[in-house]
Amino acid sequence: MRYDLRALADPVAAAQPVSSELSLTGRVAVVTGGSRGIGRSIAEALAAKGAAVGVMFREREAPAREFEAVVRDAGGRAWAGQCDVGDEPSVAQFFERAADALGPIDILVNNAGIARDAHVLFHDRVKWDAVLSVNLDAAYYCVRAVVRGMLLRRWGRIINVSSPSARLPLAGQISYASSKAGLEGLTRALSRDLAGKGVLVNAVSPGLIETEMLEMMPESARAEHLKGVPIGRTGQPHEVAAVVAFLATDAASYITGQVIGVDGGLG
Ligand code: NAD
Repeated sequence: MRYDLRALADPVAAAQPVSSELSLTGRVAVVTGGSRGIGRSIAEALAAKGAAVGVMFREREAPAREFEAVVRDAGGRAWAGQCDVGDEPSVAQFFERAADALGPIDILVNNAGIARDAHVLFHDRVKWDAVLSVNLDAAYYCVRAVVRGMLLRRWGRIINVSSPSARLPLAGQISYASSKAGLEGLTRALSRDLAGKGVLVNAVSPGLIETEMLEMMPESARAEHLKGVPIGRTGQPHEVAAVVAFLATDAASYITGQVIGVDGGLG
């Protein structure tokens, strides 16, 4: 592929931001937990690049329906379905319905996640199982639901949303940190299974991002945490979404098995 530099001589063409390798027109994406927070931003970024986008909601249907309506009103294709991502039969059923509505899935973003932070003494089996099932088991279920089709079509993108807690956990995060470390292991190992077959697997690791999840963090802990962020501020969901959307495109064709920090330099 050669870049067409003739566009530089034409100010109108040069002002067009989307080259074909950054476009997702004709692709079908699913974003788990895509109705709010980082997932919603990712779903919007993928739709803005031309992908048909499916999102799931567990209980709160209204924001998911609103996403569907916004994309459809703008001339795009979107679909929302109910799913408990920690439950394998529910996931299998969700992906069948998503494929019926939108077509075969090309792009999977494993974004849904929960935290149940507590000191190990209070970190009971209920918390542990809940976090591991939504943050790690779910990614395995979703991958298994779409990977065969991606391999048959020899094109696919799987993007997992991890966390710096995989490497730099806070106190109380035994389940969250373990789940995200596992998700990064899954990312690297899966990339090896699929490398050379057109299916690329990466993770993004967002730092402190302004969502409902961050609202649960006490103000003091947040201020303490921010001291370690070189850029010196929290991030916005769209700053994570932009990287995920790029990884989904053909422009990212030589990137696999990576965990990319979107964390203001936290490292
Ligand atoms: P959020 O709480 O706003 O959104 C989480 C999403 O996951 C929601 O849409 C929710 O419905 C969905 N979800 C949870 N359990 C589910 C289930 N059983 N079935 C289906 N969907 C389910 O949080 P967020 O900040 O947008 O988090 C998105 C991802 O980013 C998570 O994986 C989280 O661990 C990660 N992350 C967030 C931050 C941050 O600062 N916000 C930092 C690092 C990583």
